Amino acid sequence: MQRITILGATGSIGVSTLDVLARHPEQYQVYALSAHSRVAELAVQCRQFRPQRAVVGTPEAAAELTRLLAGLPVDVSYGEAALCEIAASPDTDTVMAAIVGAAGLAPTLAAARTGKKILLANKEALVMSGQLFMDAVREHKATLLPIDSEHNAIFQSLPAHYGRAPEAAGVAKILLTASGGPFLNRAVETLESVTPAEACKHPNWSMGRKISVDSATMMNKGLEVIEAHWLFGAPADQIEVVIHPQSVIHSMVSYVDGSVLAQLGNPDMRTPIAHALAYPERIASGVAQLDLTSMSALHFHQPDYARFPCLALAFDALRAGGTAPALLNAANEIAVEAFLEERIGFRDIDRVVRRVMDENEHGAASDIAAVMAQDARARAAASGIVATIARN
Ligand code: NDP
Ligand code: MG
Repeated sequence: MQRITILGATGSIGVSTLDVLARHPEQYQVYALSAHSRVAELAVQCRQFRPQRAVVGTPEAAAELTRLLAGLPVDVSYGEAALCEIAASPDTDTVMAAIVGAAGLAPTLAAARTGKKILLANKEALVMSGQLFMDAVREHKATLLPIDSEHNAIFQSLPAHYGRAPEAAGVAKILLTASGGPFLNRAVETLESVTPAEACKHPNWSMGRKISVDSATMMNKGLEVIEAHWLFGAPADQIEVVIHPQSVIHSMVSYVDGSVLAQLGNPDMRTPIAHALAYPERIASGVAQLDLTSMSALHFHQPDYARFPCLALAFDALRAGGTAPALLNAANEIAVEAFLEERIGFRDIDRVVRRVMDENEHGAASDIAAVMAQDARARAAASGIVATIARN
């Protein structure tokens, strides 16, 4: 029986994870669930999955959840320390890291430092503190399995000995596929006026609002380039972004002998979630088999960096190293939030991120305190820029 903590249980990834778990009650048991403010949704999940612990964002949310769970033996608590506890508890083996944004860093790191099996969806944690996070994973013998569909595909397309001997694996390139999001073919000059609803309407995937906007700017792919760098030890030049609008191939690895290995499937996050949960075995996920004969043509082309400046900014941050990715990530989180609140326009997102990157020094990511200080400085700088251009 694997005992599981889900950080961010009420989100898109959290709900998909519970869907897979519910198909295999004999193999998995839920130890703890967390949400931030969607207390009613969390209460319904607690009634179905009967965790020992549930964590929310505030004392008020905790009081409300306690009221909703009256009679159930669920220990309810709130805040970052409680999130770290449910991630690090000796009563859990596996942690699904599916909180969105920098808020997921501390509990995900707590899971790494206690040697858990970590199913990593929260790419922002790795972008912010890649070296520190990977060091903690190695030092505490944690197991890190990627949930992001591209990275899960790459993991599946790499040889088993890759982790022990990457230089002997013959990898020429990691080909990170990207759908291009909802604005791949929209006239560039109309991007100034797109609405949050349009930006969140992804053609192939159903996801949370923040990652949906990141997909529309292609910052998501930029964050994924940095994520791939840390997960697979690949330098920036070895990672190539390929636009593939159909999202059937979820990424590829090309080898020095000319082979290209890919992972294919319907675009449904339950596939990578089931893969990581059961690894190295396989379990049913509820996802329909890919019907190759009914598929239309698959297309591939290079990304347009003028249309998607965030992608270039992310490559810049990766090459700059140190706390530059934390700067990029924090500025992006503030800009995306302001866009979703309709305070700034869609194209302002890349302008805010660029200005924060240009106007702020980055340093060495020597410890988590340095990363968090950079994160705080970048948020303040981005909020200041947003205030000067905000419509309301
Ligand atoms: P959602 O917005 O759907 O869910 C986010 C979850 O995190 C919710 O449970 C939310 O609680 C919780 N949360 C939000 N803010 C905080 C906070 N400050 N402190 C603690 N918990 C918080 O996001 P997704 O599920 O789409 O994405 C989660 C992560 O997975 C992201 O990092 C994303 O990049 C990554 N990912 C997602 C994919 C997808 O298909 N959705 C694909 C690949 C990666 P509440 O519901 O109460 O607000
Ligand atoms: Mg992805």
